[in-house]
Amino acid sequence: MNCDHEMISAYLDGELDAALLDSVTSHLLDCAECCRQFNDLARARDAIQTNCLVPDPEGIVASVMAAIDRSPKPAQTLDSGYPGPANNWKVKNGLLHK
Ligand SMILES: [Zn+2]
Repeated sequence: MNCDHEMISAYLDGELDAALLDSVTSHLLDCAECCRQFNDLARARDAIQTNCLVPDPEGIVASVMAAIDRSPKPAQTLDSGYPGPANNWKVKNGLLHK
């Protein structure tokens, strides 16, 4: 593989399949320039993740989950008057028996 900074970026983002991952890994081990690029990108990504990700101070995730819990459930059609199998049928050894 030749030097390909797009590949290195994709590598960091976990977007490569196993074959490409192998070839980029071995190229990184051999190529000082790509190795440096990899380190720069990794450092930049870490800095962005550390400084730009907003925590969840308002508990927004929890309140959305609670709202979903409170929303009306679809009607349980099976429980609304359908009599189901006759009571004298029993399951025995995985089969229905009278
Ligand atoms: Zn290279």
